[in-house]
Amino acid sequence: MTDAPREPSKSLPKPLSGPQKALRKLGLERAIDLALHLPLRYEDETRLQRLSEVRAGEVAQIEGVVTHCEVKISGHRQLLVTLDDGTDTCLLRFFTFYPSSQKALAVGQRIRARGEIKDGFNGLTMMHPAFHPAGGELAVALTPVYPTVAGLPQAYLRRAVQGGLSRAELSDTVPLNNLYEIWLQPTWNLREALLFLHNPTPDVALVTLQDHSHPAWQRLKAEELLAQQLSQLQAKRARARLRAPVLALGALHEGLLAALPFQLTPAQRRVSSEIAHDLARPVPMHRLLQGDVGSGKTVVAALAAAICIDAGWQCALMAPTEILATQHFAKLVSWLEPLGIKTAWLTGSQKARERREMLALIASGEAGLVIGTHAVIQDKVVFKNLALAIIDEQHRFGVAQRLALRSKLTAPTVHDEPVEGAAASTSSARTVEVEPHLLMMTATPIPRTLAMSYYADLDVSTIDELPPGRTPIITKVVNEARRDEVIARICAQLEAGRQIYWVCPLIEESEALDLSNATETHAQLSAALPGVMVGLLHSRMAVAEKKAVMSLFTAGQMGLLVSTTVIEVGVDVPNASLMVIEHAERFGLSQLHQLRGRVGRGAAASACVLLYSTGDAPRLSETARARLKAMAESNDGFEIARRDLEIRGPGEFLGARQSGAAMLRFADLALDGALLAWARRLAPLMLDQHPALAEKHVLRWLGGKAEFLKA
Ligand code: ADP
Ligand code: MG
Repeated sequence: MTDAPREPSKSLPKPLSGPQKALRKLGLERAIDLALHLPLRYEDETRLQRLSEVRAGEVAQIEGVVTHCEVKISGHRQLLVTLDDGTDTCLLRFFTFYPSSQKALAVGQRIRARGEIKDGFNGLTMMHPAFHPAGGELAVALTPVYPTVAGLPQAYLRRAVQGGLSRAELSDTVPLNNLYEIWLQPTWNLREALLFLHNPTPDVALVTLQDHSHPAWQRLKAEELLAQQLSQLQAKRARARLRAPVLALGALHEGLLAALPFQLTPAQRRVSSEIAHDLARPVPMHRLLQGDVGSGKTVVAALAAAICIDAGWQCALMAPTEILATQHFAKLVSWLEPLGIKTAWLTGSQKARERREMLALIASGEAGLVIGTHAVIQDKVVFKNLALAIIDEQHRFGVAQRLALRSKLTAPTVHDEPVEGAAASTSSARTVEVEPHLLMMTATPIPRTLAMSYYADLDVSTIDELPPGRTPIITKVVNEARRDEVIARICAQLEAGRQIYWVCPLIEESEALDLSNATETHAQLSAALPGVMVGLLHSRMAVAEKKAVMSLFTAGQMGLLVSTTVIEVGVDVPNASLMVIEHAERFGLSQLHQLRGRVGRGAAASACVLLYSTGDAPRLSETARARLKAMAESNDGFEIARRDLEIRGPGEFLGARQSGAAMLRFADLALDGALLAWARRLAPLMLDQHPALAEKHVLRWLGGKAEFLKA
């Protein structure tokens, strides 16, 4: 019996059906995920309407007798059915149908139909209504309509959600006493709230479901915010249990300060000491340094690097583009090399031989500082003892890149630590694992409400003033029709010995178009400005070419640089005093602000011209106008970010930052401040007093997504 043929396919999983795949795509795998998939809106199938009373545009449910049924073959083949409910008639039209539909809709049949009423040439009409034989019970609850995707029919999804709802474990996780704090009366627990929202009774005020003010919605929003706060607090506390090298302030820090060609601003001094304080603790730092473009974040990073290297450890500084990394390299080398610090350099475009040399410098520990693009986190790079990772313009790295960064840069290194008080003998050292400190820098500040919710696990340092002597940038919004005046202005600036950026938009649908746009503008401006060196920079140029162009501009030989948005981040040429942005209406607000930040870096008065074109339309769209207006009215990155959030809402705002933060699905930070405050108060108490409930709550709400919250 033992040699009976085995069933070969037993261990193979059954292939998923189309709708099952679609469910997975929506992230609806667990019963609880289905239960938390809430309706977008509802349909009322709890009553029948009279045809004499329905209005065009309304979704109605009617019942009547078929008085006419024919397949029309001339023109588009269709099934035409007339339904009479005694008050009026309605024409039902079907472009796809089966013989069975014809039978079900034969003259004399009583049927119930449901669909949107149109009032047209043929009187009242429904296109492709849902129908079945008349009679039968009317629904007792409103029928939910769920957000869905192609290949996942509502009916299938409805059944799946109801199934999930009945299977899901929905016991309360929020300690009851803390609920009273907001609702003062014991209403709606999670189970009740979900059952209601999936099947509300028809007497509910629909508007309270739509605007999420209904107590059932309040409960869900509060739970969601609590999950968000808990998971971030968990991450923060988990980090606090890790060990990091203690990097105490040394002489190098002082040496660098003394060697700088300027004095730190009070804000730079404050954030530097916040960072120094973190570095001196045996716990990994996890800090975001935000400061407007030009506020001087680089020197703060250099000071942190100096502390780290002085303590005998390595520091890595990463930038999202090669141009920016090159600049950092030049600047930091000029500051730190005279103080005896060796710096290694890593990018994707590097020659193999140079790369090998750099890798050797890094592995031996000879290079205290490593600067580069994301080449820094490639597998081949082995640090001797990395203690501080600095990520510049961190919002420019994609989600996946950021997770990779995090896991590579914060991988623990083994380190022999002398035991205090013992003599320097081999037996007095113990091996410990330490994680590097992490400093992220960004010029796109996070508005306060978002910082409190999405980034609650970060420590934030803010540089809130610019170095002295800068004159504010004057921003002008100018119609494309006045391009000639702008060119005249360029001439004047060039004569004064200034340099100019001219930025062309990135047209995402077509890189080729994008390019021709920049090259055309380049040709046009070259022709208009004889005797001026006009450069061109775009993302498809070879790295060496880009570098060559950039260094001519940096050295002041090139008067005008036409560029796509590759210069958006961090580029620092203080002599540039005019920025022209073509098709400014196509750019996002924070991008415009970043671009504008390329000027106003020296003492000369700087200006930014936002050229816009309405194309074929009579005027700009409302949001484009709002963006340009915000730019003209404010130079302050925080104000710009606030307006950006207002114009776009948190979903898009965070999306553009590529944060990867699990989005709040239900809560609205603009409206639910009180619930957020409640969640922020409760989260630490709950972790301390009810850790098991907290764990359960996070798992229920975030499932596998909690990891992304930390990105
Ligand atoms: P960002 O914050 O945008 O990265 P940078 O670090 O590139 O700004 O600094 C912008 C410019 O300001 C640089 O040329 C830098 O050397 C200069 N700078 C930074 N701090 C000061 C200061 N305290 N006083 C004068 N100039 C400064
Ligand atoms: Mg910078």
